[in-house]
Amino acid sequence: MEIGDGTLAVGAGRPEAERYAPPLPGPVFAAYYHLPGEAAGPYTYGRDANPTWTLLEQAIGELEGGAETTVFASGMAAVSAVLLSQVKAGDVVVMPDDCYMATRMLRERLESYGARVRMGPTAGDAQLGLLDGARLVWLETPSNPNLDVCDIRRIADAAHAAGALVAVDNTLATPLGQRPLDLGADFSVASDTKALTGHGDLLLGHVATRDAELAEDVRLWRKTVGAIPGPMEAWLAHRSLATLQLRLDRQAANALALARALRERPEVAGLRHPGLPDDPAHATAARQMTRFGCVVSFTLPDEAFAERFLGALRLVTQATSFGGVHSSAERRGRWGGDAVPPGFVRFSAGIEDTGDLVTDVLRALETARKTR
Ligand SMILES: *Cc1c(COP(=O)(O)O)cnc(C)c1O
Repeated sequence: MEIGDGTLAVGAGRPEAERYAPPLPGPVFAAYYHLPGEAAGPYTYGRDANPTWTLLEQAIGELEGGAETTVFASGMAAVSAVLLSQVKAGDVVVMPDDCYMATRMLRERLESYGARVRMGPTAGDAQLGLLDGARLVWLETPSNPNLDVCDIRRIADAAHAAGALVAVDNTLATPLGQRPLDLGADFSVASDTKALTGHGDLLLGHVATRDAELAEDVRLWRKTVGAIPGPMEAWLAHRSLATLQLRLDRQAANALALARALRERPEVAGLRHPGLPDDPAHATAARQMTRFGCVVSFTLPDEAFAERFLGALRLVTQATSFGGVHSSAERRGRWGGDAVPPGFVRFSAGIEDTGDLVTDVLRALETARKTR
């Protein structure tokens, strides 16, 4: 039976109903499991497997459109599990130069292990020109924080023809916004700290793949490096998935409404949101995404203007994350490291009422303008 995304999310990874059993079993806290007279089985030692992870991994695998999934302690644990388990000395890795800052920091690590790293921008499918002799192509689309988009199917086809594997950081979209494995990628990787779990109360990451050998590599990496999630985090994450479609739909609607309101304002430049019909990324995004995500980015006249704007917001917290049920925003230049202007704001739309959120943002803009 074909089911919709809401039905999929609310039921993902839930065990068959059993008399007197809870609908979602609670977190299993165990460092080891009883193994009388044997040295094997599904659960032996707490770093290898845990029943709470198993249910969450089934759930995320279903959301990914059917995939073997491994959950990790954080998004970066998942990102490094793919990059460091797949790349060996002498291999060529192709990465976006505008991807998540901590992913970019792995370049030096890879090079110190004797790999060669080539970088190009996400926009314009620049990776296509860098594929010669590559072992692994890393994509992040939409990119963070600039919201450029690349064509996953097109790059995956070319990368496979060149003998390379393809991994996509799908953090921003989540599997209900975009399914990298259906678009030809070998790995779908994400920080589930962000929109997938959405409540801002845990860190988590996952790697999904349909290739049994690659899945085994990733699992072995987790076991040997020990980047395992706590059972409480895994359980909270699973609990959060039931509302994923509701959250994503409201967040995407809020992001689009905000983008439409902001484009009318003279002090706003460089407005980006892949759901805006005239955004440079929209055509490609519309081909491969089913929801355009919660992030809107734009540039205010200068640093002081942006800081006044952020300070005047009442419904929006200043924080450096995105994807949560509470709207948040930050002036990205506070951190350094991204190629963005001083007035650049990354805005993450939450699930507040659309009218309230738009009113708050327009009022804060007005305050920032008047106090100039
Ligand atoms: C946040 C983020 C990560 C890292 O995730 P953590 O859970 O913070 O380790 C990786 N990629 C992208 C695109 C992110 O936004």
